[in-house]
Amino acid sequence: MHERTRAEWRATRQRAAVLRALHLHDTFVSAQSLHAALAADGVTVGLTTVYRTLRLLAASGHVDVVRDSAGERLYRPRPDDGHRHYAVCRECGLSLAVDSDEVERWVARIARDIGFHAVDHTVELTGLCERCRPPMSRPAAGPPARRRTSSAG
Ligand SMILES: [Zn+2]
Ligand SMILES: [Zn+2]
Repeated sequence: MHERTRAEWRATRQRAAVLRALHLHDTFVSAQSLHAALAADGVTVGLTTVYRTLRLLAASGHVDVVRDSAGERLYRPRPDDGHRHYAVCRECGLSLAVDSDEVERWVARIARDIGFHAVDHTVELTGLCERCRPPMSRPAAGPPARRRTSSAG
């Protein structure tokens, strides 16, 4: 191991702090919320640093990123068993892990076809969850017997 510069060491420490704060949240969290959580915890890290650190963590595959309705990026630590894709509700922020086998297969095939290695990808699904879907866009009143029941959650 080569000697670390002061800046590198500080960056490593900040990255660890950001990751730790991320793990304390059980859902997607914005850089600003994370920054506030760190500050409340007595960790002095600039917001810019938090943003930069999160970008690096995302690029290195340590966190997953989605965007909320305002376009703000939200972050969550990636599970150990590989990355996940999420469907995020633009209204309430509900995020559900979705089955992405087809996406993974597609990425593998494309990477093979074009001869790329270490291909990473980001797939974001955003929409309105069942609870937030406006009544207008529900199917017109049909026979009551056809009412779908779902017990997600
Ligand atoms: Zn919702
Ligand atoms: Zn994927």
